[in-house]
Amino acid sequence: LGHPVEIGGGGIPFMSFVYLNEVIGRSEYGQLAVGSVSMQDSIMLHLYGTAEQNERWLAPLVAGDILPSVGLTEPEVAGSDPTLMQTSAVLDGDEWLINGHKWFTSGANLAAFTTVFAKTEPAEDNKYGQFSAIIVPTDTPGYDIARVIPTMGHTGGHHCEVYYRDVRVPAANLLGRRGEGFVIAQKRLGPGRIFHCMRWLGQAERAFELMCERANTRYAHGSLLSQKGEIQRYVAESAADIQAARLMTLDAARVMDAGSEARVEISLIKFYGARVLHDVIDRAIQVHGALGVTGDTPLEKMYREARYGRIYDGPDEVHRMVVARRLLKDYKTGAPWA
Ligand SMILES: Cc1cc2nc3c(=O)[nH]c(=O)nc-3n(C[C@H](O)[C@H](O)[C@H](O)COP(=O)(O)OP(=O)(O)OC[C@H]3O[C@@H](n4cnc5c(N)ncnc54)[C@H](O)[C@@H]3O)c2cc1C
Repeated sequence: LGHPVEIGGGGIPFMSFVYLNEVIGRSEYGQLAVGSVSMQDSIMLHLYGTAEQNERWLAPLVAGDILPSVGLTEPEVAGSDPTLMQTSAVLDGDEWLINGHKWFTSGANLAAFTTVFAKTEPAEDNKYGQFSAIIVPTDTPGYDIARVIPTMGHTGGHHCEVYYRDVRVPAANLLGRRGEGFVIAQKRLGPGRIFHCMRWLGQAERAFELMCERANTRYAHGSLLSQKGEIQRYVAESAADIQAARLMTLDAARVMDAGSEARVEISLIKFYGARVLHDVIDRAIQVHGALGVTGDTPLEKMYREARYGRIYDGPDEVHRMVVARRLLKDYKTGAPWA
């Protein structure tokens, strides 16, 4: 639904799609149902892909025939500082020769390709200009998925550890220009984070509803849980948290829709929204007692996903750092951020 019309999508305007993501987010299968699983990657290809790349990768992505994956994070270095990435790509004749080790390449085991971010310009002074994005089909010799990583007790996931051992792809698989990797990665993530935060709201609301239902029916110590002050506090605080996160997210979307990169707003909602999601689900689990940690309600799975949300697309601390640095700088220059 959210893909632009010119690449075969439903063409829903940005702000409408922002609102819609709250509904999509209610269900684990929402994104699959509306065909937006690959949207971040489709938009990235649409912006930076050549005609040839788009014919091979973008068209089947939008049609839902293939899935993408993205490889930045490496186990040996801090993913929250991507300038530390060690994977290298060297132009050898008319091929890129890639060597490295990535992990948490989500969906690599299901994907047709990985957009891998590798160091191609080691001599470049500006460390943000040292990396490029290269499309690597997952069936390329030397592209080895070592394992699907078990996460928080879950073994059937899709977060993959991948070795690149003398992987060769055509020079034409470079996405965008040499050294443009970080610009591309940032463009990919920006609107995606807003959609993420809206989907988190859908999850938080679902947890909220489950919490209210349970509170209204579970009886202990002479009354329903819903009549106890502590439980009413959980309900009221959750409602306030959800409403605050929604308004902040919609504001970030509005700023982005007006043409700004909305860096501060996006970082604010990334760490604030992740915490709201986590806290609301946590309270809902608490109100369910032991039932809350079983697989008999969706809550335990939702809780795991919420925990990941505080780490992927930049850990909380990094987003707080982005916000604080910018605000402090603006104060110093006498033009406070508003
Ligand atoms: C579910 C999930 C899916 C993911 N999918 C993908 C994917 O598809 N592709 C991909 O490339 N990566 C993916 N990742 C990886 C994710 O992007 C990284 O985990 C993230 O960037 C953090 O990197 P790291 O794990 O190396 O942690 P590190 O960088 O080692 O950071 C560890 C901790 O250090 C602290 N820290 C870091 N910087 C600062 C700072 N400046 N100030 C204070 N504290 C700080 C934070 O507490 C942080 O959590 C995924 C991760 C998860 C959990």
